[in-house]
Amino acid sequence: MSGGVQITKMGMKIYNSLSRQLEDFVPLNPEQVSIYSCGPTVYDYIHMGNARTALVTDIIRRYLMYKGYNVKLVQNLTDIDDKIINRAAELGVSAKQLASENGEAFFQDSQRLGIHPADVHPKATEHIPEMIDLIQTLLDKGAAYVIDGSVYYRVNQFAEYGKLSNRKPEDLLAGARVEVDERKEDPRDFDMWKAAKPGEPSWESPWGKGRPGWHIECSAMAMKHLGETIDIHAGGEDLQFPHHENEIAQSELATGATFARYWMHIAFLKIDGTRMGKSEQNFILLRDALDNYPTEVIRHFLISAHYRHPLDYNQESLTKSAGALRRLNNCLDALKEYDQSVETNGTTATPLQHTVQEMKAQFTQAMDTDFNTAQALGAIFTLVGEVNKSLTNVGEKTDPAFAQAYQTLLETCQVLGIYGTDTQESDDHNVEQRDQLVQLLLEIRQDARERKDWETSDKIRDRLKELNIEIKDTREGATWKIVA
Ligand SMILES: [Zn+2]
Repeated sequence: MSGGVQITKMGMKIYNSLSRQLEDFVPLNPEQVSIYSCGPTVYDYIHMGNARTALVTDIIRRYLMYKGYNVKLVQNLTDIDDKIINRAAELGVSAKQLASENGEAFFQDSQRLGIHPADVHPKATEHIPEMIDLIQTLLDKGAAYVIDGSVYYRVNQFAEYGKLSNRKPEDLLAGARVEVDERKEDPRDFDMWKAAKPGEPSWESPWGKGRPGWHIECSAMAMKHLGETIDIHAGGEDLQFPHHENEIAQSELATGATFARYWMHIAFLKIDGTRMGKSEQNFILLRDALDNYPTEVIRHFLISAHYRHPLDYNQESLTKSAGALRRLNNCLDALKEYDQSVETNGTTATPLQHTVQEMKAQFTQAMDTDFNTAQALGAIFTLVGEVNKSLTNVGEKTDPAFAQAYQTLLETCQVLGIYGTDTQESDDHNVEQRDQLVQLLLEIRQDARERKDWETSDKIRDRLKELNIEIKDTREGATWKIVA
């Protein structure tokens, strides 16, 4: 009964999108877990939706390390793509320059969010020979064909096509963004090599000048850096079809081996109820959010829901996260002086010691069960509440549980990256104070509206707008948000 909760590699479960169920997690190599995560197409800055995917991957890796695994994480950068070529043309810069600048910006933003760099960040343009080899293997196997310098994957050669997205052949066409190209044998076929168009960046290949398709990039880079079979392949839920389906088709037909053993798909971030995305013109850039909130607050917000559940970006949630972080920081500050200052007194555990043990077990249980960060945070904040109660009770100040609580909180918060990343408490405080001031102005404006003082009401709305704070009047009252 005594002794701490032992951290072992046992007991982890992951929801595998491929089998559509919770599976025991057993890596191929018992010591090292390999993870491939689809990284950004670097044509612009990343938004908060992209940040959710990147942060979840960071936490998966941190937790696996906490459990005692070595982890090799590979996250690619798609630095050649239609979007990059089009945007570069709009801006009048080269595709190479645009991709390089946005790649740098991606690393900066990730670092500001406290995301540890991957072990390898391969770039598509630096792996053209590997992609050509893979395409050639598929051609040799009769699983691809060449038309006018482009190479297409022959989907009907892969009997298991559709197994990840659970689509039957007839569904695969409906609603999918299938490129209309009459030259293809089957509308489901997709290009792995695109013949060069005038003015576009291109590379030499056995089929003439051209550039790789998006799907072949990930297959080639994943296998180059992690081998034929990966433990975990992660990405945003929008990538499941066709991107990941096509990665499986290419890789598994080429090697005959399982490409990825666990597929993890991270849900969209929503804003005002709809998906946050560039194409929807509906997004908050990560760097703008980081200008407004400390790192830990944004991390807390982004993991406040389980990664497969929807999460809505709004002011109230961020204000809540800021409040939670302030409670956590205050608690840890108060506990600092108890660090290792009290010896454990024999075998009788105090009530707070029990709470610490329980909390650690709950945290582990939550994270073991498909990385349930929402429940893991619940365990942390339950302990914070209990510690705060005990700290106000003068009689219990010699309780050795304080030192244990401190260590346990530090340890678990480190896994989630919500303490001591680079938060300045003054920032935290400023955010909360700003939110309270905006709320006060909304109340004054509401009073003005009730006495039909439209001049004051409009003045408050307009002046806040100048400060990038937008008010929306709804039936339930006014809401506000920061607009970039
Ligand atoms: Zn990918």
